Amino acid sequence: MHRIDIIREHLRSDVEPNNKSTLMNNTSSKHSQKEQILKNAHFSTRAVSKGYVHSSGFESALPTPIVASSTFELDDVNHGAELSAKRQVEGKSPFLYSRWSNPTSQSAASQITRLEEGFGTHLCSSGMAAISTVLFGLLSKGDHIIVFTPVYGGTHEILSAELPRYGIDVTWVNDHHNNPNAMEEYSKLVIKGRTKVIYSESPGNPTLSITDLLLVSALGIKHDLVSVVDSTFASPYNQTPIATCGMDVVIHSCSKYMGGHSDLIAGSITSRTEDLHLKFFQQLKLFGGVLGPFDSFLLARGIKTLDVRMERHNRNAQLVAEFLNSHEKIDKVFYPGLKQHPQHELATEQMKGYGGMVSFEVRGGVEAGIKLVENLKLIVLAVSLGGVETLVEQPSTMTHGMVSKVEREKFNPFIGWLRTLFRHYSRFEKCIR
Ligand SMILES: *Cc1c(COP(=O)(O)O)cnc(C)c1O
Repeated sequence: MHRIDIIREHLRSDVEPNNKSTLMNNTSSKHSQKEQILKNAHFSTRAVSKGYVHSSGFESALPTPIVASSTFELDDVNHGAELSAKRQVEGKSPFLYSRWSNPTSQSAASQITRLEEGFGTHLCSSGMAAISTVLFGLLSKGDHIIVFTPVYGGTHEILSAELPRYGIDVTWVNDHHNNPNAMEEYSKLVIKGRTKVIYSESPGNPTLSITDLLLVSALGIKHDLVSVVDSTFASPYNQTPIATCGMDVVIHSCSKYMGGHSDLIAGSITSRTEDLHLKFFQQLKLFGGVLGPFDSFLLARGIKTLDVRMERHNRNAQLVAEFLNSHEKIDKVFYPGLKQHPQHELATEQMKGYGGMVSFEVRGGVEAGIKLVENLKLIVLAVSLGGVETLVEQPSTMTHGMVSKVEREKFNPFIGWLRTLFRHYSRFEKCIR
């Protein structure tokens, strides 16, 4: 039996997705039949089917309609009172005000829920809004969080500069050594009564390191912590942390693969349980970082082609990584799909594909890296990822400049990295020569 199956078997009773409640799923029977069929459908079928929303006009339109309304007409005072008290009213519209929920946003959110196989999803105005809503929603003064490194630059800044201002302590873990005593060792980091969250990101930015999500989820279950993963670099096409690893919360920066066209800033929070989903609803409604209907429309549209885009990203990145790996001017290539990647096996266990991001070190260090990225002709010097263009950037001088050199070298003992995203039309070979 595969290691992943053994742990999954062990966790099964704890991680059965909770789809029974109807509180947030005010669904017609025709709709629930459709969702039942979709549960077992192919990824692409789940991705292209519009998310359900309680409204006849909305239901009959084929693509997701943009409902540009801040507020919604109510049937009677009781309807308004019930919705204000967070309850759904049988047979009536569930919409009160768009900071609470909006049909376009809810429809796109339910597409993500289906792909991530969670209980429910909230859409946020950015990936950072999703991350801060989750962190500030789960943590209070005096609490403690364990963080598996590396994490996105903005996440690193929130954890190291913002959380301490609210009296929340952070312990950093660097687990990329396939440590057989990991469970025991990291259990000792848990402070009874104070540790509430275990946070991870996989694959990690910019080194494409893989965090063992089963380990994170098992630590969470053992010590009653909420396990969170930022799965942006994988997308639900390559990795479904709730269904396969029993994680509690999956975050995406939908500005990347999910939107897929570099024309959108958005984030998502998918929860395994109804309790967590409601908790984040309460936080998001008060913090206010929700996604508007126009951007939700773009997101809903982007998700429909996620599988074809990811399939191509996976294939191209593998070819580019192999090309760079054999190039004399390249010192090191970091790509989980290469056998030499220290967690290639782990990546193969928990992911379906290795993604479209490749990191590499150019011989000659930072200066040589700058020369390369500034002289590429077709590949664009720009941050971000997940769109259809091929991009290149230099994390050590750009996106990860705010991570101190000491920390960078401690967690990622090399400097001068580049990070690139490749897709089908990139003529990288020509450019590097
Ligand atoms: C881009 C990114 C974020 C932040 O998302 P925004 O949409 O830019 O706010 C968070 N995590 C990862 C892994 C990212 O790549």
